[in-house]
Amino acid sequence: MATPLSHLAVPLALALALGGDIVPPGLMALALVCAALPDIDALGLWLGIPYEHPLGHRGLTHSLPFAVALAGAGVLFAPALGADPLTAFGVLLTSAASHGLIDALTNGGLGVALLSPFSHRRSFLPWRVIEVSPLRPSALFSRRGLRVLRSEMRWVWLPCLVIGLVGFAVRALVGQV
Ligand SMILES: [Zn+2]
Repeated sequence: MATPLSHLAVPLALALALGGDIVPPGLMALALVCAALPDIDALGLWLGIPYEHPLGHRGLTHSLPFAVALAGAGVLFAPALGADPLTAFGVLLTSAASHGLIDALTNGGLGVALLSPFSHRRSFLPWRVIEVSPLRPSALFSRRGLRVLRSEMRWVWLPCLVIGLVGFAVRALVGQV
């Protein structure tokens, strides 16, 4: 996995790019949850569920169909959050789906079951550029941890910051800031 904090970069970039009118605070909070939630399967490691099991780490909760289901459930809250349902679906889907895709860019672990429950095959994307994060958070405070954070800065935070700032600049140009 990438570190849990780095998965939050995607919804934060969307909020910066689209602005508070399109992504109100409640929707952004829900998008942050959707981006982080897939790693709930790490609890399975303590419950005795093997990594490679369909419900193991990087299994069902990291898949694209799960992201669609999560975004679909989240849309039910859109009116209460003051968000347009279609926009909410897009923001939540992008946030949730980005989790598995970012993990599929890492250089360690078993790969991600991107199509679960239709296929439990684990795979990576062709570019495994992100240094995989250790499962034990304490291991981040080490030389390896620094390498992981540097890699995530380069491949997750920097592209997200650019996307967020480009969106912000476009909104400023059309007078929506
Ligand atoms: Zn993950």
